[in-house]
Amino acid sequence: MSECGAPGPSTIECRQIADLLGDYLDGTLPKHIRELLEWHIEGCAPCVAFMNTYRGTVSAATKLKDVEIPAELKQRLLAVLRNQRASRRPGA
Ligand SMILES: [Zn+2]
Repeated sequence: MSECGAPGPSTIECRQIADLLGDYLDGTLPKHIRELLEWHIEGCAPCVAFMNTYRGTVSAATKLKDVEIPAELKQRLLAVLRNQRASRRPGA
């Protein structure tokens, strides 16, 4: 408990949130991962904004401009949203 922000074996980083959030919202994440994610988000304002934006799905790119999200995380989110859209082909 000495180094704040240093990811250990039982913590996850913001960039991993981007990868996990889709499964989290689908309810397909294993319980322990879900708890890690929730624990992280509780103490991480950018990730809260991240999740709200992800959930919103409507004009996420526009909304992101008003939210203080680290540039790297923002790029990540946009990439995830893009992939999600691409993989959701109706009737496929
Ligand atoms: Zn975070």
